[in-house]
Amino acid sequence: MKGTVLVTGGAGYIGSHACVELIEAGYSVVIVDNLNNSKHESVNRVTEITGKPIDFYPYDAREKQDLTEVFQHHSIDAVIHFAGLKAVGESAKIPAYYYDNNLNSTLILLEVMKEQNVNKLVFSSSATVYGEPSTVPISEDFPLSATNAYGRTKLFIEEILRDMANADKLNQVDSPLKIALLRYFNPVGAHKSGRIGEDPNGIPNNLMPYISQVAVGKLDKLSIFGNDYPTRDGTGVRDYIHVVDLAKGHVKAVDYLLHMDESKSECHAYNLGTGHGVSVLEMVNTFMQVTGQTIEYRFAERRPGDVAECYANPTKANNILKWHAEKNLEDMMRDTWRWQKNNPKGYED
Ligand code: NAD
Ligand code: UDP
Repeated sequence: MKGTVLVTGGAGYIGSHACVELIEAGYSVVIVDNLNNSKHESVNRVTEITGKPIDFYPYDAREKQDLTEVFQHHSIDAVIHFAGLKAVGESAKIPAYYYDNNLNSTLILLEVMKEQNVNKLVFSSSATVYGEPSTVPISEDFPLSATNAYGRTKLFIEEILRDMANADKLNQVDSPLKIALLRYFNPVGAHKSGRIGEDPNGIPNNLMPYISQVAVGKLDKLSIFGNDYPTRDGTGVRDYIHVVDLAKGHVKAVDYLLHMDESKSECHAYNLGTGHGVSVLEMVNTFMQVTGQTIEYRFAERRPGDVAECYANPTKANNILKWHAEKNLEDMMRDTWRWQKNNPKGYED
């Protein structure tokens, strides 16, 4: 066994895939998830895929006593903090709820980690912290900004984590914080078993689940937001990354932090993307080719706040974390469809 990782938000879309990859890499996993945007069934399915039991706590990461109890029951070597609210539109309507949940869960987690002498943390950040980038591909040293409340929670948490790591350095503490801020581009796809995948509440906001729900007959028609962008076919370009590749990036980040010099403090950001931009029309056409399904679509107005192009320069993660995205667009489509087709109602089935 390589060590024990506490995964907050481990019942969610990315967290459940990360649990599978961590277990398969030899880690044991403890999950804290209050199930506010997920179902316990995802944890059962991770156990089914890996054949390994998981300690699951249905706790809110803002509850200090509950979190402390988890740290006291397990010898935690590192934490991956996925727990957070992520809906951009909702964050504009109820920003206080987003700030409370995302910031306070992180602050309480840091407090408990300090008290329990755990100093390695991987944080779920997002490409949204680049705001409206002036050029692509985007490197980690690009200016940071945010265009919505959700994005600001990520930006603020990144700043808090940088301050905390710096403070440990200034105070010359014995086992200072070592933090990896992982900035995800556009996670899509599902585990190849078709047993875990993305299970959005209500009508999806994101492109990939929208396409797959049109294919399965839950939605009528895709609206493509804008066909007059200065891109190769006029539709928006993004860096879609297979969720299993993304999950493996977390394993690499944990490996990296666990092998760092214990006396060093660090807080670095890493882009997790493929480095390739794909347009909305290319996504739709590839999905149709790979699955044989027809996706009805129409062109609609641009969605406010959308940028024309956003894709990563992932060189830093390639070189330092020794991580590369390996799966291609066809894998993303095939695996999304297998999950959607086998679980048309998500985990409710
Ligand atoms: P998700 O909603 O599927 O997973 C988040 C999990 O956290 C859920 O299971 C939810 O129940 C849990 N949770 C939320 N608040 C909690 C709290 N206070 N205490 C305990 N559990 C709590 O989302 P996801 O797509 O798996 O995203 C995981 C993380 O990655 C989030 O922080 C998200 O902001 C970030 N992220 C996601 C994307 C994306 O496109 N999916 C992109 C960039 C960053
Ligand atoms: N998109 C679209 N129709 C949809 C959802 C998304 O045309 O129903 C487009 C969107 O304008 C963007 C791309 O698909 O160009 C990816 O959008 P998504 O919301 O998945 O990711 P994000 O905008 O956060 O990168």
